[in-house]
Amino acid sequence: MPMFVDTSPPGQCIFCKIVAGDIPAAKVYEDALTVAFMDIGQVNPGHVLVASKRHAVTVLDLTPEEAAAVMQTAQRVAAAAEAAFAPDGITLFQANGAAGGQTVFHFHLHVLPRHAGDGVALAWPRKEPGAQALQTYATQLQAALQATA
Ligand SMILES: [Zn+2]
Repeated sequence: MPMFVDTSPPGQCIFCKIVAGDIPAAKVYEDALTVAFMDIGQVNPGHVLVASKRHAVTVLDLTPEEAAAVMQTAQRVAAAAEAAFAPDGITLFQANGAAGGQTVFHFHLHVLPRHAGDGVALAWPRKEPGAQALQTYATQLQAALQATA
């Protein structure tokens, strides 16, 4: 996980300053809702962050239009990374909240070109709780979806 943590208030965070042009960034692409720029902490060459232009903290704070725009920009950047850097693979990584691994609290999605043996790792403590538990979880989520519809 990255070590840099930006706890700036909304509108003053490092990504808001990049959107506003107040601090420099190597921008790759931008449209009405999103901006894509090089991650200063390049894990591999071509590592890009796609951020909402508006200061939304997590995926839960995006409008549906912003969520769609972020993924469309990420797909375009991934295609460009494929063409420009010929990686073995591409990982999209998006973290929400400190416990989720978020370090800059302005929504962003990593587009990370990957190479075999590049050292990137995410612990994945797989559990298999059984069909009954899965159905219980699904029922909980269905109820929550209906409540927010
Ligand atoms: Zn911001």
